[in-house]
Amino acid sequence: MTLRGNPRVLVAGNWKMNGTTASLGELRLLTSMLEGVKLSCDVMIFPPAALIMAASKLTRSGLIRLGGQDCHSEPHGAHTGDIAAEMLKDAGASAVIVGHSERRIAHQESNSLVKAKAQAAHRAGLLAIICIGETLAERRGGETMRVTREQLRGSLPERMNSENTIIAYEPVWAIGTGLTPSSDEIGAVHSHIRAELKETIGEQARAVTILYGGSVKPANAGEIVTIDDVNGALVGGASLRAADFIGIIKAYS
Ligand code: PEP
Repeated sequence: MTLRGNPRVLVAGNWKMNGTTASLGELRLLTSMLEGVKLSCDVMIFPPAALIMAASKLTRSGLIRLGGQDCHSEPHGAHTGDIAAEMLKDAGASAVIVGHSERRIAHQESNSLVKAKAQAAHRAGLLAIICIGETLAERRGGETMRVTREQLRGSLPERMNSENTIIAYEPVWAIGTGLTPSSDEIGAVHSHIRAELKETIGEQARAVTILYGGSVKPANAGEIVTIDDVNGALVGGASLRAADFIGIIKAYS
């Protein structure tokens, strides 16, 4: 395995449970907005799983790659309503988000389950984006570093490297609230994540992409991009409209 020098920068849009085929117009618009733009970051959209195949027909130029928002740890079987990493890949995905706080909280997903899902992503040949982040009570209680360390250590897949795994630091209290930590607070957690990765995978940690997520908007993206160890953004609400998302992409380009 070659040791990459710098982390690749990624701007990723998580549509969550929003969108029908009509929403693919936004993807079409984004694709046309990106044509001719000199990008120095990768761009990914994570639409609802039901839209991935249709979306893949609109992203053949390769300017935008697609991903799933979750996957099951098993490749197939009696798991009604779940989706396998292999199915996401088959539909046109090249990545999957695992351990988003909305799943950790609403579906009681443990670190070991998130780890199993990340391993399933790798088994299927998908990039795994592993989300970690503290709640407001944990931040107020001075627990941010302990919580993110435990989530990270418990969720990292075997054979993780800088090419198959991305970490997204997403403070739970910043998601969808319009609140963001200060630049110093974001920088402190990102450098802590980098140091923890170094303990686990050694020098390879230097090349791991670490995203910040939580109320990233065109208005604050320019400041967040300058923070050390921030290698891109995981964006929820502001990724739904091409006109907003392009503003964030341009801040990272
Ligand atoms: C998210 O859910 O991953 C997210 C970052 O959401 P938002 O940008 O809306 O805060």
